[in-house]
Amino acid sequence: MALIVQKYGGTSVGTVERIQAVADKVKRFREQGDDVVVVVSAMSGETNRLIGLAKEMQDQPAPREMDVLVSTGEQVTIALLCMALNERSCPARSYTGTQVRILTDDAHTKARIQDIDDENIRADLKAGRVVVVAGFQGVDDNGNITTLGRGGSDTTAVALAAALKADECQIYTDVDGVYTTDPRVVEGARRLDEITFEEMLEMASLGSKVLQIRAVEFAGKYDVPLRVLHSFQEGPGTLITIEDENTVERPVISGIAFNRDEAKLTVLGVPDIPGVASKILGPVSDANIEVDMILQNIAEDNTTDFTFTVHRNDYDRALSILERVSSELKAREVQGDNKIAKVSIVGVGMRSHAGVATKMFGALAGEGINIQLISTSEIKISVVIAEKYLELAVRSLHSAFELDEAEVVQES
Ligand code: ASP
Ligand code: MG
Repeated sequence: MALIVQKYGGTSVGTVERIQAVADKVKRFREQGDDVVVVVSAMSGETNRLIGLAKEMQDQPAPREMDVLVSTGEQVTIALLCMALNERSCPARSYTGTQVRILTDDAHTKARIQDIDDENIRADLKAGRVVVVAGFQGVDDNGNITTLGRGGSDTTAVALAAALKADECQIYTDVDGVYTTDPRVVEGARRLDEITFEEMLEMASLGSKVLQIRAVEFAGKYDVPLRVLHSFQEGPGTLITIEDENTVERPVISGIAFNRDEAKLTVLGVPDIPGVASKILGPVSDANIEVDMILQNIAEDNTTDFTFTVHRNDYDRALSILERVSSELKAREVQGDNKIAKVSIVGVGMRSHAGVATKMFGALAGEGINIQLISTSEIKISVVIAEKYLELAVRSLHSAFELDEAEVVQES
């Protein structure tokens, strides 16, 4: 008898019928003898709808009130799913984050889980009940409702699995696993049987939206066996694993991730003296703007150019900060471009293979795509290109690294 934590995302609980189908599925696991803790998202579109309502009241609603509002989406789903389970003679009980006591810090709208009280859940499981927990939410030390950031239900599920030492954390979604890249962009994209936590982390942070990044971090840190599966189709899904000896046998590149929502800012002609980088980036991070790639050129005439990228939503704010800072620093000019995209190849195999970058740049050159910025890590190479070439770049890299669905070999 296994203890399984299952998470169903917004589309999987998007209608009454789907919630009923989830209940049927959960019941089958129970009948197999498994203990099941279910984490659910809000019904699809609901969180966005709630955010839209908030925006009609205020441009910048207080984060505390945002959390009170958006956490209601999941509360609806837990109750409905429990009703559907009870209707199927499968005893179930719902819990909000506060009721479980998923303790978080007080960073409203992006809180981090600090502790989970598993007492109630264990008692219910022991009594033969399915436990249904609202994803995405917790409570801080002072009893304020908090939320974990968009996509946070994944993190709830992984954190619960870690706290309960579950045998597996299953993330049910509307795709049947993790793909080499987005199948909407590359027809031949393939489902991966396995991917390492590290690779998954890179894929998630680079814009593959299958799993929330914090969930992957959490799973890696606590070694939670994590599997991504389709909610309503049978199949093995993708297992996210720790790196093992077999990794050597794997392809050099596991996947190609991309992100359209990027913008680039450059301060030209800043004095090449100590402290300049922190003078430029300090006010940016003080404004809570996350900086991704950072690049500083070789100095010429004692001045240098400083470039970095941010999320496109932060572009206008970052630009006005830079304009202020650059006049203080007596820089020559500030330039920006918010029509850029980032494309990255990811694979632990890169550690043991040479020539990966050359192959990547060659493939892009072959399509006449200009590379604007490059950054690398041990298992990833990212380039920034003009947004209009994004699809072309992804497709050409997918085939250059032979990730396309293998053609069926005819037996003779
Ligand atoms: N409902 C939240 C969102 O849409 C959390 C989640 O679905 O994971 O972001
Ligand atoms: Mg989600």
